[in-house]
Formats: sequence, structure tokens, C-alpha cells
Amino acid sequence: MSHKKELLEIYGALLACFGHRGWWPGAESPFEVVIGALLAQNVAWANAKQAVDNLKAAGLMSPEKLYAAHAEEIAPLIRPSRFYNMKTIKIKDFMRFFNDEYDLDMGGMAREEPGVLRKKLLGVKGLGKETADTILCYACDMPVFVVDAYTKRIFARYGIISPGAEYDEIQAVFMSNLPEDVVLYNDFHAQIVHLGNAVCKTDPVCDRCPLCRTCDRRRD
Ligand code: SF4
Repeated sequence: MSHKKELLEIYGALLACFGHRGWWPGAESPFEVVIGALLAQNVAWANAKQAVDNLKAAGLMSPEKLYAAHAEEIAPLIRPSRFYNMKTIKIKDFMRFFNDEYDLDMGGMAREEPGVLRKKLLGVKGLGKETADTILCYACDMPVFVVDAYTKRIFARYGIISPGAEYDEIQAVFMSNLPEDVVLYNDFHAQIVHLGNAVCKTDPVCDRCPLCRTCDRRRD
């Protein structure tokens, strides 16, 4: 079943209501996006941002500096992102991969074929599909749609996907129905995160939702 028109209308309604989200929030470089994506796993963005700011203030937000930094130096700085010991290991693992495969060069990584890069990223320990796709879309400007818990909740409630749908199935709904457009994918996912965070919460506030006229699960 085609959802092309419906998805574009949903995006249009979100954009009209919330405005362009301008993602990735506050990032000064693609490398910062990668590190932000690793730190944002399982935590609110405000916590991840504090950890990003600490790394920047310590002068470690560059591929060479972060690659050379010891775990003992990184861990206390990223403490606000929670699970900081585990995330320190993830950062070290990613930096090793980034050095071995791309010589710490974001341009080189971004020139990789998207399918090849995705496969390689998924081979890095602790790096799942959502984080890999976030790096592809937001750090490498590749047309890959990011799926997260908000996407699952909102689009299951809306009636476009089934409640038990898995990552690949949900991603295929977006990527097979929308034009292959990184600008659209970038902002659509950002809109979804904002809607899930502010409106379509665990307890949804449907009367404030820009999708309330067409959503299956709206509360009357
Ligand atoms: S109308 Fe309600 S359930 Fe539907 S997307 Fe909006 S907030 Fe979520």
C-alpha cells in the first residue's frame, strides 16, 4: 500500500506547525554529530549535549584529539550522558574504527557508498541501526531515514505501521514512499522527535497535535 501522499502531508503539517528544526542541534562539525549520536543513546538530548559541551571545553572535539585521549580522560567529561563508562568504550571503539578505515577523515567516510558504510558501522561494537543511520544522515549527508522509538509510537498510533513493526520494516515504509532526499529525511526525523517529545508523548496531547484531524488514535 502506498503512503507517499500521506507521509508528505504529515511532514507538511509538522513543518507548518513547528517550523524547520535545523538539525543537527548546535553541531559545529560532522564529527561532533557522530560523537553526539553516540552520546545520545538511551538518554535525553539535554544530557548528551552537556557531555558534548564538556568534550568541546576540554579541547577533545576533534578526531585527532579524541583518538589520542585515554578512557580515564573521556569518562568524567561524558558523565552527564549517563552510562558513561559504556559510552567511553563505544567512543574508543568508534575512534579505532574511524582511524583504521578512514584515517580520521570525515570527508573520506562521507565519500563511502552508503550501503557499505552502514555495514561497516554496524560492525562497530555497540553501534546499532539507529545510531548508524543517524551518522549516515546527519554527519555524512546521505539519504537514509532514521527510525527511533518516537517514529514507532507515532506512526503506530497514526495507523501507518503495525505496533509490532521492526526497524527495517518501518524504515522501508519511509524510504520506499518518500523521494530520496537527505534534506527531507533530515527534517522529517527531526519533526518526529519534536512531536514525540512535546505532543505525542506516552500520554498524548492530541488536542495540541497538528496531525489530530487525520490520526487513527486521536483522542476526541
Ligand atoms: S493525534 Fe494524538 S495519537 Fe495521533 S499523532 Fe497526534 S498526539 Fe499522537
